[in-house]
Amino acid sequence: METSLQTPSKGNGTSTAVKVAYAKGDGIGPEIMDATLRILEAAGARIDFEEVTIGEQVYLSGNTSGIDKHAWDTIRKNKVFLKAPITTPRGGGYKSLNVTIRKSLGLYANVRPCNSLSPFVQTLHPNMDVVIVRENEEDLYAGIEHQQTDEVVQCLKLITRPGVEKIVRYAFEFAKVYNRKKVTCFVKDNIMKHTDGLFSTVFQEIAAEYPNIDSQTMIVDIGAAKLANRPEDFDVVVMPNLYGDIISDIAAEISGSVGLAGSSNIGMECAMFEAIHGSAPDISGQNIANPSGLLRGAIMMLNHIGQPDVAEKIENAWLATIENGIHTADIFNENHSTKKVGTREFADAVISHM
Ligand code: NAD
Repeated sequence: METSLQTPSKGNGTSTAVKVAYAKGDGIGPEIMDATLRILEAAGARIDFEEVTIGEQVYLSGNTSGIDKHAWDTIRKNKVFLKAPITTPRGGGYKSLNVTIRKSLGLYANVRPCNSLSPFVQTLHPNMDVVIVRENEEDLYAGIEHQQTDEVVQCLKLITRPGVEKIVRYAFEFAKVYNRKKVTCFVKDNIMKHTDGLFSTVFQEIAAEYPNIDSQTMIVDIGAAKLANRPEDFDVVVMPNLYGDIISDIAAEISGSVGLAGSSNIGMECAMFEAIHGSAPDISGQNIANPSGLLRGAIMMLNHIGQPDVAEKIENAWLATIENGIHTADIFNENHSTKKVGTREFADAVISHM
């Protein structure tokens, strides 16, 4: 089976601009996207951006999918998509647009690095450096959910051998390329013997092909507890979709803040880059959101499109800003921080550190 760590690179380090679709999203989305785009521009990113409108505005216009044909065409044409978080209306007939995009574009691998920034950002886990590799198309997110009777609803858990092979191989290839030592698999195969049982069987088969990388399988409940308590014992962790969604938020939060982690969603044709967090309606419009998650998603995107020079420039400036204690409210701490700043001022500080 063919597996690529990333889709074929669209850039080759030359000055050619790469076309990228982007969406400002909902809630804090426009604020953190504005901060991210300003930083990308200041760093000289060679990108022609094309905006698409998706999410709340589209839902409110009566389109319950949250996305129209023009947006689909633009994303498919550009193949690379930088997306701010979108609000998913709860209940009702609204499907999650995030899930729909990942499935429709075949973005099977969701890669979510969560590392501590100790001693600059407070964390109980100064040596944490975990990469969650979340299966992104199947499991309980496959969308097979039925109303059986007035009182009974059902959601089916879908796990396929090709799906597991792709994600597990991705996790081991990632470990190999980035010189990681261990891949852990989280499953509940003691209870869900067929679905998680298949995930765990395929994991063991593929692990045997990588004798130089340690592998282990853990039951997800104790695995999550151990990861929350001693994340430094983990390296790459691969798991089905729902566990990955939950555990990556925990991992990001214990590294310092859910606002710090970015992610890539990788497929064979297209790729999408985003923050791991949601649209945070509780703090939207207040200029207090941390734009780091989306910015780190954008750094992953720059590496993906063949602009590692720009990625490195931004990453260094971002790290210097964090190291100088210039922090947004979510990571501000009197012992570690020197200045509490808003979203816009944080972006200004990153730009001034270039
Ligand atoms: P959330 O991640 O938006 O927020 C959880 C908590 O973290 C909130 O207290 C919020 O203020 C804080 N937070 C999140 N991002 C932050 C940042 N950058 N800086 C500082 N604090 C931050 O989760 P939620 O409230 O459960 O979800 C809100 C909406 O987002 C829902 O509609 C949900 O469906 C959607 N969502 C979207 C995505 C996505 O677009 N990929 C992911 C998750 C949730």
